[in-house]
Amino acid sequence: RGATPEPPAKQPRLTVLSGPSGVGKSTVVGYLRKVHPEVWLSVSVTTRKPRPGERDGVQYHFVDDDEFDKLVANGELLEWAEFAGNRYGTPRQAVMERLEAGGPVLLEIDLQGARLVRQSMPEARLVFLAPPSWDELVRRLTGRGTESPEVIERRLAVARIELAAESEFDVTLVNTSVEDVARELLALMRDC
Ligand code: 5GP
Repeated sequence: RGATPEPPAKQPRLTVLSGPSGVGKSTVVGYLRKVHPEVWLSVSVTTRKPRPGERDGVQYHFVDDDEFDKLVANGELLEWAEFAGNRYGTPRQAVMERLEAGGPVLLEIDLQGARLVRQSMPEARLVFLAPPSWDELVRRLTGRGTESPEVIERRLAVARIELAAESEFDVTLVNTSVEDVARELLALMRDC
């Protein structure tokens, strides 16, 4: 008997986790980072200042405006967006190398970024993380305790609009528990 032939090359295995601010995307990703260190996560670049406990190169690459400008000008970002007064972007090269090596790749980005990825990589699977309810989302956004009231207000306004975007996504996961969402997300990533 001959060896089993190699399966045909799959489409890039790119999963995009997005959803309203405060819905718990970064908690899910933080959980994956801890419990499933084998999952490859894209580390975004941001002009936002680090929050307590955040480390450069882990949650984000923290850069200043000039550095971000250069990354944009040199085409080094796969997508980028401005969110609540700061800029966030996905480094292109690391993601492409990983996809070429067979992936899977997980991006955790805002809705504008998810739309840009949909345009440039239509085969990406877009996952919408939904809050169990609006009240729960408000509670989470207000409860973080690290943002000023103005920032929270801006984020709520954005979240209200973003909730309506669910229909643009391939899959919705409701964030009832971080463990459940992480399990469902991993199953999706293994299946693409
Ligand atoms: P935070 O400041 O709370 O860490 O993130 C704010 C928002 O920026 C979140 O919705 C997060 O998903 C999004 N975000 C993080 N990294 C990126 C990125 O590389 N690109 C885009 N478009 N959004 C990102």
